[in-house]
Order: sequence, then structure tokens, then C-alpha cells
Amino acid sequence: MGWSGHSLPLTRLESPRSEAAVDRTLRSLLPGHIAKIAPPGWGRTARQWLDFGADSLVEMHMPNTPPSDAPLDDLTFWFYTTVSWPSSLAHHWIRHVIADEGRFTIRELLQAHGYRLAPGDNLADVSTRFVTEGSRIAAVTADGVIWQGDRMATESDAALSPETLALVRAVRADGVCRCSACWEAGDLAS
Ligand SMILES: [Zn+2]
Repeated sequence: MGWSGHSLPLTRLESPRSEAAVDRTLRSLLPGHIAKIAPPGWGRTARQWLDFGADSLVEMHMPNTPPSDAPLDDLTFWFYTTVSWPSSLAHHWIRHVIADEGRFTIRELLQAHGYRLAPGDNLADVSTRFVTEGSRIAAVTADGVIWQGDRMATESDAALSPETLALVRAVRADGVCRCSACWEAGDLAS
């Protein structure tokens, strides 16, 4: 058990605001943004990952370290490292909201706080791709899937419905994620 940190380097613009100010704003907005890109039924789960309370699974600075009054050099997310929650899915969606050009990004918000994302974020180094089946989400593996949730369940290709298997094969063929965030956001295939 422990924490794994993933950083997005920031370029400071004019009058960058403090870590505490950025932290406050992201805390208030990020859970709602994640809920908007998640499939039905996942909004509350996503909020729980990100509620930043005592049992939070994601923290925006080193856990138990109060945000400082100094400007930031990067935006670091700390993920609680245990297999019993879908951390790669949380990672995927946070990256989508923070770093992508999707429908609910917070780029403008960062800019309003005096920052721009710099190249080279390691939140982008995520190879996990997902498929959605109704309100269920699964990570695609080489020969099956891992259903995401409080109980992570592995299933082989042979056990999947024909529709889901077709999606899984499409993801393996083109490497494009079919989760609700990526797929509806449009042309990630390009
Ligand atoms: Zn996705």
C-alpha cells in the first residue's frame, strides 16, 4: 500500500495563483467534470474517488501535506495503490478532463489561474483502454477484459457478449479507447 504520483508539468503565465487556490478550484470542479464523462451510474463512484476526504483514493498533492501558498510547477495527482479499486480508470478520466480537448476540460480554468499545461505529462503514459457495456466498463487485456468496480472481475473473450467482444476486438485492432469519455468525445482515432 502507498501512493503513486503522476504529474502534469505547468508553464507559469502572468501572476500564477498559489497551489492552495488551484487546489481549491479543482476540488470543487473536477468531480463534477468526471461525472459528466462517466456512463450512467458512475458519477457517484467517481465523486467518491475524488472527494479528497480522509478516505480519498486520489489526492492532488502529497497526501497529508497541505497545499502551499507558493505557485505550482506541476499538477500532481496521487493515486492510492491497491488493486481493489479501478485506479487506471480514474487515471484515464482525470487525464481526459485535465489534458485532453474534450467537452469538459479545465484548460481555460488553469489559464485563469495563471498556468498552461506544458508538454511531457506522464498522465498520458497510460496504455489501458476500455469498453463500455451499458453502465459497465471493462479494461481490455490481451485475451479478455477486467470489469471495473469495487470488485474487479476478470473475464475471458469466450464469456463476453458478441457486441462487447466486437468492441474489444476493435480496441485491440486500433488502440482507440471505447469508454464513454473517449468515444463520445469524437475523433481520438486520428
Ligand atoms: Zn477512454
